Amino acid sequence: MHALDWHLANSTHVEALPARLLRPRARANADARALAQAAWCLRRKSDGRFLATYDGRRLHALCHGLAREPGIGEAIAAIEASCATAGATGSLPLAGLEERLASLGLDAAYGKSTGLVLVPEPSRLEFAGYDRYRRPLWLLEPAARAWRRMQRAALADGVALDAISGYRSHDYQLGIFERKLARGQTVQQILAVNAAPGYSEHHGGLAMDIGTPGEPPAEESFETTPAFAWLRGQAGRFGFRMSYPRDNPHGISYEPWHWCWQPPAPAGASPASV
Ligand SMILES: [Zn+2]
Repeated sequence: MHALDWHLANSTHVEALPARLLRPRARANADARALAQAAWCLRRKSDGRFLATYDGRRLHALCHGLAREPGIGEAIAAIEASCATAGATGSLPLAGLEERLASLGLDAAYGKSTGLVLVPEPSRLEFAGYDRYRRPLWLLEPAARAWRRMQRAALADGVALDAISGYRSHDYQLGIFERKLARGQTVQQILAVNAAPGYSEHHGGLAMDIGTPGEPPAEESFETTPAFAWLRGQAGRFGFRMSYPRDNPHGISYEPWHWCWQPPAPAGASPASV
């Protein structure tokens, strides 16, 4: 199987990943055997908990209470659909997210005050290699290809780029919020550090945080590195632009590490500003 054939099948509460990517992480023997035989591993999105493996016909539970776990049937349907329509990617519905945001005290006023919009999650993401922490990096297909090309081109110029993170789910971001609220932090305190769930470019599968070995992740000091200088000059050739330069209109702090892929402009159109 070619690496780019590996994909993540997405559904509301559960994501299905190729089991082969996860084998080294399985601890228990029975689970390791199940992973070795399974094509897919089902993971709860809010906390990353492994729920079950799936071999195309049968589920093997990796947790207690699988029968009570919401979203398993939807996840199986998502696997079947993503395999049947290779390359075709839709978006998951936003219904439910707004309700959960309201229950956290985040209403439409947040979007209005920041000029940000809710970003739906793709139904399918492609494996784009591993990030700095040896976690699979997931991006939409064109961004995954562009990232691999750009990383190779940088290396040919003597510059090492690594991925800090790519796609992140609504549930992952909601989980961070709910855990911090449970510890007594206010929504305002959390928003000072974390993006509001649903509004991050990372949900859409086109944005990624880029770093270079030896540098801390997501720090402004990244702008002083040869990697950043290379990106400033070359990333546009691969379709990546910096989303949050200094004094951006969204009021988001300067993020020299955050780059987003955008489709090339039609021939003859003036290039988008970077
Ligand atoms: Zn980012």
